[in-house]
Amino acid sequence: MQDSNSALLIDIRSLVQHRMIPLEPQFLRHGFRATLPALRAIRDVVKASGWWAPYLPREAGGMGLSLTHFAEVSEQLGRTPLGHYAFNCQAPDVGNLELLLAHGSPEQKGEFFEPLARGETRSCFAMTEPGRAGSNPTWLDATAIRDGDHYVINGRKWFTSSAEGAAFAIVMAVTNAAAPIHQRASMFIVPAGTAGYSVVRNIKVMGEAGEDWASHAETLFEDCRVPASARIGEEGAGFSLAQERLGPGRIHHCMRWIGICSRALELMGRRALSRELAPGQALASQQTVQHWIADSYAEIEAARLLVLDAARSVELRGQRAARVKISAIKYFTAGVLQRVLDRAIQVHGAMGLTDETPLAYWFAHERGARIYDGADESHKNVVARDVLRSLQ
Ligand SMILES: Cc1cc2nc3c(=O)[nH]c(=O)nc-3n(C[C@H](O)[C@H](O)[C@H](O)COP(=O)(O)OP(=O)(O)OC[C@H]3O[C@@H](n4cnc5c(N)ncnc54)[C@H](O)[C@@H]3O)c2cc1C
Repeated sequence: MQDSNSALLIDIRSLVQHRMIPLEPQFLRHGFRATLPALRAIRDVVKASGWWAPYLPREAGGMGLSLTHFAEVSEQLGRTPLGHYAFNCQAPDVGNLELLLAHGSPEQKGEFFEPLARGETRSCFAMTEPGRAGSNPTWLDATAIRDGDHYVINGRKWFTSSAEGAAFAIVMAVTNAAAPIHQRASMFIVPAGTAGYSVVRNIKVMGEAGEDWASHAETLFEDCRVPASARIGEEGAGFSLAQERLGPGRIHHCMRWIGICSRALELMGRRALSRELAPGQALASQQTVQHWIADSYAEIEAARLLVLDAARSVELRGQRAARVKISAIKYFTAGVLQRVLDRAIQVHGAMGLTDETPLAYWFAHERGARIYDGADESHKNVVARDVLRSLQ
């Protein structure tokens, strides 16, 4: 960590601690929308401090941080469920911004990228379908058929995160079913309000449908006609664009999870110290609890080192060369996250299941960490194949 980034991290941690964590009870009890006015005020502070969109280049309105430095910021923001939103680096917008910056046409950048980068709009990404295994993104039912200067999109998607209220969706659909497997699909920008595009419902995740940015929707494209200029990149480039979008995204997610873990460890420790099993006998005196704390500490430290190493590897050697490291951090960190949250909840007893802390929210909503952006098993296959190949 460089000194300049150390000072930045201390300042951001302080903002999270003093302005954002106090918003958690409102968010957990009354939902995202009720918290938005306060979040907008914090966004103003973030902008005035020069911390807006830390991963975006300066000329695009961001801080221009390297992937490694952004990863460290992401850990601090991950300490609260609202941190990334306040800095305009929340999924799925961060991935869509990177995609549009790298591959959007000048018109797409003007109409979609710029308002998104300024935080005036939100977006969503519609690739996964209820009828097909999301683990194989080359096999999609959704189609986009060329019709003169337009494409006509048909398909049903789900787990389109943050679709409610999004100004546009980036949708992946098959443009040529006869093409080689990795060149069958393309990506399109579909603005909200386009005839034939609808957000059907917010899907309940572990019993909670959520709202606004904090939701996951089923989306439908029925004879949805978009101009050919809505296509991102070349026809048939959808799969490679999706892969490119997911690489840094996994590093962002992992560091956010480490932020969650470090907050959970802190909550676990404080509760163990303050809760007495009998007068003068703190829960922290129990060896089992001490071992949970020790295991969590070591696992978090190990995960952080692995993730930062993967981020450096992406910076030095590129995403493709860092592929195995990225796969390894994805399932390793998701596992650490699940175990640390589980121990923290156990230490809190019944309170751990309530909205008195963010632990229950994270336990429900971050269970998906082992599934989205590649399920554990897919990533383990990548790592195992690489190890075995090196031995042949
Ligand atoms: C919280 C959350 C947010 C999401 N947000 C978005 C979004 O914004 N946009 C979007 O398009 N999608 C999104 N998704 C969907 C996500 O990308 C898919 O869930 C993921 O790709 C897995 O696909 P699937 O759910 O269809 O599971 P399937 O592909 O049906 O896999 C089911 C299970 O099979 C096992 N499995 C899969 N492959 C292998 C293998 N090779 N070897 C062994 N076992 C295997 C795994 O255990 C896996 O969990 C989100 C999902 C979640 C949970």
